[in-house]
Amino acid sequence: MLERRLIEVEGTVQGVGFRPYVHRLAAARNLRGFVRNDAGRVMIDIEGELATVDAFCRDLTLAPPPLSAISLVHVKRAVPMRRRAFQILPSGTNVGESAAAAVPPDVATCDACVSELFDVHNRRFGHAFISCTDCGPRFTAIREVPYDRERTNMAPFAPCTVCRAEYETSSDRRFHAEAIACPRCGPVLVARRVNDDNVQAIGAAAITLAAATLRRGGIVALKALGGFHLACSALDAFAIARLRERKHRPAKPLAVMVRDVAAATALCDVSVVEQSALTASARPVLLLRARDSAAVAALVAPHTATLGLMLPSTPLHHLLLAAFNGPLVMTSGNRSDEPVAITDADAHSMLEDVADVFLTHDRAIVARCDDSIVRVIAGEPRVLRRARGYVPNIIALPFHAAATVLAVGGHLKNTICVAHGRCAHLSAHVGDLGSLAALRAMRVAVASTIHLVGARPRVIAHDLHPDYASTRFAESFATDEGTTHRVPVQHHHAHIAACVAEHGVREAVIGVVFDGAGLGTDGAIWGGEFLVVEGAHFTRCGHLAYVPLPGGDAAARHPWRSAAAHVARADVSGTSAASARPASVDEREWQLVQQLVQRHQRTPHTSSVGRLFDAVASLLNLCHVSHFEGEAAMALEAAAGTRVALGYPISLSADHCFTANAARVIAGVLDDMERGRDITDIAAAFHTTLRDLIVLAAERIREASGISIVALSGGVFANARLTATTNAALLTRHFRVLIPQQVPCNDGGLSLGQAFVAACALQEPLCA
Ligand SMILES: [Zn+2]
Ligand SMILES: [Zn+2]
Ligand SMILES: [Zn+2]
Repeated sequence: MLERRLIEVEGTVQGVGFRPYVHRLAAARNLRGFVRNDAGRVMIDIEGELATVDAFCRDLTLAPPPLSAISLVHVKRAVPMRRRAFQILPSGTNVGESAAAAVPPDVATCDACVSELFDVHNRRFGHAFISCTDCGPRFTAIREVPYDRERTNMAPFAPCTVCRAEYETSSDRRFHAEAIACPRCGPVLVARRVNDDNVQAIGAAAITLAAATLRRGGIVALKALGGFHLACSALDAFAIARLRERKHRPAKPLAVMVRDVAAATALCDVSVVEQSALTASARPVLLLRARDSAAVAALVAPHTATLGLMLPSTPLHHLLLAAFNGPLVMTSGNRSDEPVAITDADAHSMLEDVADVFLTHDRAIVARCDDSIVRVIAGEPRVLRRARGYVPNIIALPFHAAATVLAVGGHLKNTICVAHGRCAHLSAHVGDLGSLAALRAMRVAVASTIHLVGARPRVIAHDLHPDYASTRFAESFATDEGTTHRVPVQHHHAHIAACVAEHGVREAVIGVVFDGAGLGTDGAIWGGEFLVVEGAHFTRCGHLAYVPLPGGDAAARHPWRSAAAHVARADVSGTSAASARPASVDEREWQLVQQLVQRHQRTPHTSSVGRLFDAVASLLNLCHVSHFEGEAAMALEAAAGTRVALGYPISLSADHCFTANAARVIAGVLDDMERGRDITDIAAAFHTTLRDLIVLAAERIREASGISIVALSGGVFANARLTATTNAALLTRHFRVLIPQQVPCNDGGLSLGQAFVAACALQEPLCA
């Protein structure tokens, strides 16, 4: 009996070798019909004997390609057409609702391609653009769905006859590999020495020229997947110092690329979980504990105990690492914190006086996408910067958004998010909105995400802070669009909402938010918050007691100011208070800050735990001036190591909205310093204090509300020690603990939280 079925498969099913997989399944059973990509899905039309068709349908979801993720299979019976063969047909073009969900993230070069790359007998030996159905650029290469070559950055390259034959051979590894190419027909690698336009090398010679430059201590700008990288030897202190000076990046840690896991293990301790995060197809920068014996120059990551390592993600990186034969600093191709360059023209104008050699090619980068950063915290890999390899994976919402929502995030570590249906589309890391270039990049992220989703937003969510560039963008967007409805979302509410959205939780949770700064509903700068969050609503149950902090933003860059403020506030007297001033800080400046605090003059009040970290780091002489966000906190975490110590006394006031006063903590730290207690012990005791505070506050809120789910978020929880010990302490007290995993705990997650809050608010009239 002849049976015909029409099957729709949704999810991440394009650009992942799904059609060839279906073709193989059908051909093996002698079934007829076709498979093709449609806007957001794969359509299969299949016919044959009933039992065989049944078997096909059963097996379809059993062993799909490793990079695919099937979210829905819809099957319909139809009248048999008596077809004679099974074919892969050209894509359909109707744009479906889930079109955006069909684009997969970029995938690091697979093992099979790497072995061909280094096989002298293979026709793709040394080909810097080798890829297959299992690997290669996707998000950074696809202009439009459905995923076909003509809608990618490979459109200008016509495959040669050999590549064409591979593409059409069902038994070939590159059967229907859209980006198929070889040295004869693919993009061409070019290296050019700056200040000497005559020296130019092509293909293998380009790699040789770049590697020679690196060996001589030079800097190479190379065109990677989602933007340019800047590379130099990680063993050459002189080269690194030059890179830091030219890039205007004096202290922020630099990532290092190593060839394989063995090379990573030579530099850092790598656990089993960390090894799988390091080798995952996203190839993030993984923050690892550096070995004392690590051979990389101290300038790579000064004042931290961690080192950010990544493995090669593209054939170009593989070739360069092999030719150089050692660890390479591999950092974003930008100046300071501006967006990474993606075109050759941008790279040349931005990096002309940074790089000695440009290693580039004629394949365009369609979407900007930085390296992602991951750290294993409390036993799980957690994304701290979400970009290459993770974007544009969707985050499933626990309900259907009643209207399309655009959320524009915060000011630092900006991302944007579009919530549509049950999907949240979180953009790649845009960066700090302090430059025009960053603002332009944010606008591009907004436009391209809306384009991919295929729906205009009707609601726009943003932070409460009126001066954030993102807030101003939201206002102008709403004006331009006419009817768009604006939803301001409090910063810390958004932090917890992002965590809750990611975990698909709909119940009320206790939200603990520790971060640097966010505007509160009372006009103060919040950052040590204990909330109850339920969808569109939150209640502030308690917070770290306010400390007047003179200087506002200047305080964040000068941890000694936080120290002066906290010491003045703690009202400690005697020699310990007098000796608190660091030698590098002018006595008059120090006293001025303290006087302002005591007189409450022109000083914003803050409950920020980030600033408390700054104060303690400065009191311990670890960091008085901060060159990048979180520097002091990282130094304090590094100082504590794994030492075990009892915490300083801390208690909660009896108020309805309770406060926790850090005065006794500061007094304890000063006492310990005077007594000459080991810095490691003091840093460890400080971490224990914060853990104890969270447990105390969570118990208090549970008693009053009956809520026993705790969500931890805010940038402070990038601190692995604090997060792991707090998680363990809460678990032993039978709390359920939610910690961000796929979405950054820092301000990179705000836009998802804002979108979630706005989507929850839209639901309310329906519930009432
Ligand atoms: Zn491959
Ligand atoms: Zn070819
Ligand atoms: Zn924040």
